[in-house]
Amino acid sequence: PLVLGIESSCDETGIGIVRGTTLLSNTIASSMDQHARYGGVVPEVAARAHLEEMIPSIEAAVAEAGIRLADLDAIAVTNGPGLAGALMVGVGAAKALAVALGKPIYAVNHLVGHVGADLLHVPAADAAHPDQSAPAGPALAGSEPLEYPTIALLVSGGHTSLLLVRDLVSDVELLGETIDDAAGEAFDKVARVLGLPYPGGPQIDRVAVDGNPKAIRFPRGLSLPKDMAKHRYDFSFSGLKTAVARWVEARQDAGEEVPIADVAASFREAVVDVLLTKAVAACHDHDVPRLLLGGGVIANARLREVAKQRTDAAGIALRIPPLSLCTDNGAMIAALGAQLIMAGHAPSSLEFGADSTLPVSEIQAS
Ligand code: ATP
Ligand code: MG
Ligand code: FE
Repeated sequence: PLVLGIESSCDETGIGIVRGTTLLSNTIASSMDQHARYGGVVPEVAARAHLEEMIPSIEAAVAEAGIRLADLDAIAVTNGPGLAGALMVGVGAAKALAVALGKPIYAVNHLVGHVGADLLHVPAADAAHPDQSAPAGPALAGSEPLEYPTIALLVSGGHTSLLLVRDLVSDVELLGETIDDAAGEAFDKVARVLGLPYPGGPQIDRVAVDGNPKAIRFPRGLSLPKDMAKHRYDFSFSGLKTAVARWVEARQDAGEEVPIADVAASFREAVVDVLLTKAVAACHDHDVPRLLLGGGVIANARLREVAKQRTDAAGIALRIPPLSLCTDNGAMIAALGAQLIMAGHAPSSLEFGADSTLPVSEIQAS
């Protein structure tokens, strides 16, 4: 089926068009620059940007895919979780499009969409005329079908979640998630402490190259034996962020220079260590030899490196979709919509609304 997907849960206005598992276009407009002066995503600013970008983005995605709106079989849209006002713009646009075109609509879960990104592949013919939105990087994970069950680790500015995916369209279980800050949020906050600009993730990655990851032993949240009983698959990054801030302040108060590269490398190491320790534990505990990574923090060089090392050592197959499909995008939403259609699921009724706290087990709105 030919599906147009709309994503607007955070600061990306993403419109993607897929035919089954084939990616036809993936237009992404981010309002990230507008949030830079605040050091984090401002919900009202994000919602307003979605309003401005929505129609031009739909037009661009349709033109790039070389289709007509009338050819679509369905519209898919993220209905949660995410920022309420931001989600509402996408939901409103999707409903308007579905009603105007007389097409069915599938309202889907953003986090499950991140897993769906893994299924997509680019048609070979596209290599002849490469365009900016074509996924960069190594061969797509989606060239081999996704096998079930799989463990998925999703890490972004708004989420840090471990999922057990038994079936993308019918059985996704939340094993654990952050109890405070998301990993990307921690990168952004620590970057601020170090005087680095927003978004902090790429900046920390850059300066950490010259640092010693063992210079400072920062805490690994929720990994003490007493925490592991109740929070085996949960994450906590707020204590780590505070530990870094205290460490830096102590140096500044003593009039000493702050070794930014060492702090960045040691902080990054703590985040990566705890993320992968818990992800690999989840694979072991559930006897699942497959791990899928998703979300914007997957851009982190050290995370990719350690993920490769630890999964190789544990005999776990590692899948990382190209970065343009890891950060928020509409193509992954369209891909999930197409999977629902192919599995024979009925469309959502137009009654659904945006749900900022939508649980991951609710894959599609009824
Ligand atoms: P959502 O949580 O809804 O998926 P988001 O917009 O917060 O949305 P993304 O756009 O997927 O998330 O990712 C942005 C986050 O990823 C930011 O917090 C940014 O600092 C972080 N990030 C980007 N590159 C890196 C990197 N190289 N290392 C670590 N973090 C990174
Ligand atoms: Mg973003
Ligand atoms: Fe996301």
